[in-house]
Amino acid sequence: MRPISVRLGIDLGGTKTEIMALGANGAVALRQRIVTPKDYGSLMRAIADLVKVADAQTESCGSVGMAIPGSESFGSNLIKNANTTYLNGRPLRHDLETLLGRPVRLANDANCFALSEASDGAAAGAGTVFGVIAGTGVGGGVVVDGKVIGGAHGVTGEWGHIPLPAPTVEEVTTAPLCYCGKRGCLEVWCSGPGLAADFKRLTGRDSTAGEIAASDGADERAAIGRLTDRFARAMATMVNILDPDVIVMGGGLSNIDRLYDELPPLVEKYGFNLGGPPRIVKNTHGDSSGVRGAAWLWPQENV
Ligand SMILES: [Zn+2]
Repeated sequence: MRPISVRLGIDLGGTKTEIMALGANGAVALRQRIVTPKDYGSLMRAIADLVKVADAQTESCGSVGMAIPGSESFGSNLIKNANTTYLNGRPLRHDLETLLGRPVRLANDANCFALSEASDGAAAGAGTVFGVIAGTGVGGGVVVDGKVIGGAHGVTGEWGHIPLPAPTVEEVTTAPLCYCGKRGCLEVWCSGPGLAADFKRLTGRDSTAGEIAASDGADERAAIGRLTDRFARAMATMVNILDPDVIVMGGGLSNIDRLYDELPPLVEKYGFNLGGPPRIVKNTHGDSSGVRGAAWLWPQENV
C-alpha cells in the first residue's frame, strides 16, 4: 500500500480531451488539453503521452481516472452509448490498463460531475449528493460518502429518461418524442432545446434557451416558470427515493439564478411531507467538473 500523492483525471470529450493532475491536497498541479483524436489507436497513443508527461512533471506515478461520454457494459466491460462512437464496443479500461501499467477507473460525465462537487465543490462534506446536469441533455449521478453509485446496470441517477411526473393534460398531449425512443422524457422538457421547443410551441417564436433565460419578457418568464415546475416535480420524485443531502446543478440551465430560489419550496410542495425545502445549489467547478471528478475516482488514502 502506498499513499496516492498525485491523482490524474482525464476528461474524454467529443472535441477536446483534457488531463489534470491533482496533488494530495486537491490543488491543481498540471493541466493540459488536446484535440480529441479521430480514431481509437490515435486516442490510445495520445493518452499514453499525456500520462507520461504528467508523471514526469509531477515526479510521480499518478492514479488514473477517466470521464467518458458513455458507460461500460456490465459483464463485457465494453463501452456503450458513447457519442464519440469509435469507443463503442471497445474494452477501453482494459486497453488503458495494459497501456499505462496501472489500474484505471472510468465513469460517465454526469457521475464525474457529481463526484467532483461532492469531493471539494458545492456539496463538499455532504453524505448523499444528487448531481444534475441540465444543458443540451439532462443527466444525473449519485455519490454516497464520496463514492459514485453505479448500480446494477450503470444507470443510477439517469433521471433524464424518466417520464415527466404528474403531467398536465397539455403536457400529455404535446409530449415530444425523445431520441431514446420514448415520449415525454424529462430530457425533452427540461433541457436547453426542450425549453426552446416549449417556448416556440406556446408563442410561435424562435429563441434559444440562453435568450429565454436572459429576457425579462412575460412570455420568457412564464416559460422559465413552467421549466421550474417540471424540474420540481422530477426532483421531488428523486428526493422521495434518494433523499439527498444536496442536489447540485450543472450544465447551461444551472446558470438560471431563479431556480435556486424557486425550486426548493416547489420540491417541498411536491415531495412527501419533507418537513422543509431540500438544499439545491449551483456547481462550483463548472466546466472543470468532468476532469476533476475523474481524478477523484480514486478517493481513498491508499491504493
Ligand atoms: Zn428519453
